[in-house]
Amino acid sequence: MSSLPVLVLNSGSSSIKFSVYEAGNGERARLFEGAVDGIGTDLGKFWIKNAAGTKLVDQTPALPNRSVAFKLVADALHSGEFPAPVAIGHRMVCGGPTVQENQRITSELIDEMERYTAFAPLHTPIACYIMREALRLFPGVPNFVCLDSYFHRTMPEVVRHMPIPDEYSAMGVRRYGAHGISYESIVYQLQPEVPEKLIVAHLGNGSSISAILQGQCLDTSMGLTPTGGIISGTRTGDIDPGVLLFILREIAKTAQSASEAADKLETVVSKKSGLLGVSQLSNDMRDLREAIQAGNAHARLAVDKFTWTIARWIGSFVAELNGLDMLVFTGGIGENDMASRAEICAGLDALGIVLDAERNNVRGPAMISAKNSRVAVRVIPPLEDLIIVNHVVRLMGE
Ligand code: ADP
Repeated sequence: MSSLPVLVLNSGSSSIKFSVYEAGNGERARLFEGAVDGIGTDLGKFWIKNAAGTKLVDQTPALPNRSVAFKLVADALHSGEFPAPVAIGHRMVCGGPTVQENQRITSELIDEMERYTAFAPLHTPIACYIMREALRLFPGVPNFVCLDSYFHRTMPEVVRHMPIPDEYSAMGVRRYGAHGISYESIVYQLQPEVPEKLIVAHLGNGSSISAILQGQCLDTSMGLTPTGGIISGTRTGDIDPGVLLFILREIAKTAQSASEAADKLETVVSKKSGLLGVSQLSNDMRDLREAIQAGNAHARLAVDKFTWTIARWIGSFVAELNGLDMLVFTGGIGENDMASRAEICAGLDALGIVLDAERNNVRGPAMISAKNSRVAVRVIPPLEDLIIVNHVVRLMGE
């Protein structure tokens, strides 16, 4: 078999991250990775580095818009300096009720997924834009969508269904979850001995937690949108609906239209709440830990709210799984913030979760549970791009 370079694209509000894997002959070697960052600014960053970490491209271009940014990526990959991709995998948070399976992208599929932008408003418009551009700028190269919601498609109806009038359920309003590719990558890394009863906490700027039974998702904290579930960097997480109505009525007093009021409410719950809202300081855990050291009570409350919420979810998932074999921490906070891990687990010994303080004093992959812990506790970084490559290769063979 010949060389099979696969491009993986993961776009955010101000950046496009990408990597290229060699996937021929059963191989899965990352050849290089890169990013265009600072979209919408005069001084963006465009870099590509090889597997050894050497920067092959290191530029500071003006990036007035996403189109200019993605063209830089496409031009570099067509320059002959890098192996041109023979397939492209796109990360997508949620494809809506009709697109549950990872599959080849057509313009009709993008239109269909775009109908459900409201289900991941910060992600879907950007991802759909990049998919259209990729079809245009890489003609003849098959593109595939890899959904975060794919991993959560195994959740039973009682978990997925929302307690709302049926007319809204019929519009596709239900729980889809997020971070599914990260969860899939943790299960993948635990193979061939995936614990029967597993909880994975993906704690980053956005945070969620999943209960996984025999390798399949049983429940997850995020709901219709990534705003639900655990308190995140700037998002509320689950909240009494009465709070939303109260804030909406306050906003409506000065809004010119219903849609302006809805947009403002969305900004409050998605961009101004969570760790940022409570701390009045930052959505970044590193800043909050520094502020706590300096005695900042708001930062302390924000982090306590975060760790308390996660401990409660762990408790409810242990009940749902009817036991627990392993707890895994992943994501920027899960991998690096030992204090959060310690605080989350501090009151969970009755559930058989006991950390070893010394083992927990690490960043990166490790077993951090104490010898007497009934539940194994591990830190495992996610391998999301690798999972996307695996799906692309599988789908190309179908
Ligand atoms: P995203 O959800 O955007 O992918 P990440 O998974 O990169 O985010 O996680 C970002 C979070 O991880 C931030 O809150 C950041 O403060 C936290 N983080 C990263 N490194 C550290 C560290 N060394 N100590 C504590 N927190 C960290």
